[in-house]
Amino acid sequence: MPRPIRAVVHARSIAANLALARARAPGAFVWAVVKANAYGHGIERVVAALSAPGDQPDGYALIDLADAARVRAVGWRGPILLLEGVFEPRDLDDVAALDLDVAVHRAGQIDWIERHVGAAKFKVHLKVDTGMNRLGFAPHDVPAALARLRAVSSIDRVAVMTHFADADLAHGAEAALACFDGVAAAGLPQSVANSAAILSQPGTARDEIRAGILLYGATPFADRSAAELGLVPAMTLESELIAIRSIDAGDRVGYGGRFVATRPTRIGVVACGYADGYPRLAPDGTPIVVDGVVCPMAGRVSMDMITVDVSEVPGARVGSRVELWGRELAIDDVARGAQTIGYELMCALAPRVPVVLDGLPDGAP
Ligand SMILES: *Cc1c(COP(=O)(O)O)cnc(C)c1O
Repeated sequence: MPRPIRAVVHARSIAANLALARARAPGAFVWAVVKANAYGHGIERVVAALSAPGDQPDGYALIDLADAARVRAVGWRGPILLLEGVFEPRDLDDVAALDLDVAVHRAGQIDWIERHVGAAKFKVHLKVDTGMNRLGFAPHDVPAALARLRAVSSIDRVAVMTHFADADLAHGAEAALACFDGVAAAGLPQSVANSAAILSQPGTARDEIRAGILLYGATPFADRSAAELGLVPAMTLESELIAIRSIDAGDRVGYGGRFVATRPTRIGVVACGYADGYPRLAPDGTPIVVDGVVCPMAGRVSMDMITVDVSEVPGARVGSRVELWGRELAIDDVARGAQTIGYELMCALAPRVPVVLDGLPDGAP
């Protein structure tokens, strides 16, 4: 028998979260962001989860050409956007073959399109840097870049996009949006809103929105939970207790003896460790659900195991179900203790963890 750990991806939850994004931005074109293997959920699984006619996004956005090929391979014929554009000129051949939209964030990428030989027509999203100072044209360079794009005969669609640095803060998108509005040419489709903006800054839903973390049911905010936003978890990471022991006051648990019992304590050993993607920095007290009861972590996370104080779960035994995060325990609550964010935990789910897709709608391919 394999180790009892597995991740369950909840198809209906992803569809429900997408529907929530649509309701927040009526009429907008919705890009479902599936970079980083769909934030750890599996690109093919997420496309399958959203495959029923009423559940589909308008397009998929991602980073890697190979991932775009995966989305095409499972039958998606609609738009796919490369959020960072191409990395070298010959990538444009694949862009043409796969019929992808491309971001253009620096002048060199326009050079490559100008010089591309062939009959391909490109759909370009000009990226404007509105203060993040990461990717994109500085505002004062945007008019010239737009003029160049308009002059290239192989470009048949131009949109403008930007990415907010502070959309998770109150009014955090306002300065960036004002900057964007100052340079975005009238008449071109506009794409600005990530999950935080979709959920909290309705005015930023322009023609297109780019929904990432919200699809997966975690929060983009430090101070608002996914549940209060109406999001439902898309991934449950579950395992079982593989051993139980009773220890006395003063006994230590795990590497370095980080946990020291202050009273007689029952310790459960969970088949999950940092090699499964669980954060090693999680402190004692990090919540872990055993047989439906929230219990505190006790002792340092090991490569393959976690130890948990199950003193409050008299029925706990070898084989008891353990939820590391998911429907009974928000991934964000685990992330907070480990000083990270739900995004990082879900993206870090290790390849050795088997994943099952649960709840595909009837009639899904
Ligand atoms: C990742 C990404 C998004 C989605 O961000 P979330 O916070 O996950 O919604 C949107 N736009 C761009 C350009 C991205 O890289």
